[in-house]
Amino acid sequence: MGARFTLRGLVIGAKPHRDQDAIISILTPNLGVISAMVPGAKKHSSRLASMATPPILADLVLTDSKGFYYLKEGETVESFRGLYDSFDALTCASHILEVVRDVCVDPESSSILYPLSLYVLYDLSSHPQKYRQIVAAFEWRVMDALGFAFDLNECDCGKVNSMPTRAFSFSRCRLYCSNPACVAAAKDYRYISLGCVEALRYIRTAPLERLSAFHIEKYVLDDLCAVTHQYLCERLEKNYDRMSILDTLPPV
Ligand SMILES: [Zn+2]
Repeated sequence: MGARFTLRGLVIGAKPHRDQDAIISILTPNLGVISAMVPGAKKHSSRLASMATPPILADLVLTDSKGFYYLKEGETVESFRGLYDSFDALTCASHILEVVRDVCVDPESSSILYPLSLYVLYDLSSHPQKYRQIVAAFEWRVMDALGFAFDLNECDCGKVNSMPTRAFSFSRCRLYCSNPACVAAAKDYRYISLGCVEALRYIRTAPLERLSAFHIEKYVLDDLCAVTHQYLCERLEKNYDRMSILDTLPPV
């Protein structure tokens, strides 16, 4: 066996391997995403089984054997237990993990995505009823982190009218006012309320621990969730549809 080392990481994925093993993906603060084999993870008696149940934040002892990592020990730091009391929150966590697995490809992005993912999952676990705005805030911040920042400045036509809406242009990545010429320039857009514009501005600069600490009306939240999700899917060219099941369920 090769070198033995310890790291703190967020397990963001697990795939079965052979009959009893699993390969986990670990998001690290500054090494990107590492894959590691968890021998016997599928055995009921395995003390490492919980390490193959994402999301989990843990201190992990790994060994390096011919460039492949094996998990030897794991100690839970945070298990996000609150997620398991809410189908909504658990579904949203699974969406967040899917996005993080897709976009976190290098050490540079992991230094931003690691703290963002931790805070968002913890928030979701602590406040599962706020799942819609937590996910929207995550989606919006991820876009900034990946260099897809949207221009939230006021329409630059110089004659913004008093209508309390703006056109959120998905292709132009900026806001337009509701003057006919501006709306025409927006091409593919969705009208959003000024409250939604304020929420988008808040999320952009909020400290991570205050990311979802805003209060908005339901119709504003509807706008917010719609635009952050569509913007994410268009920029990443993938239809992230795990959360669509939540729209089919009756309200609790
Ligand atoms: Zn305008």
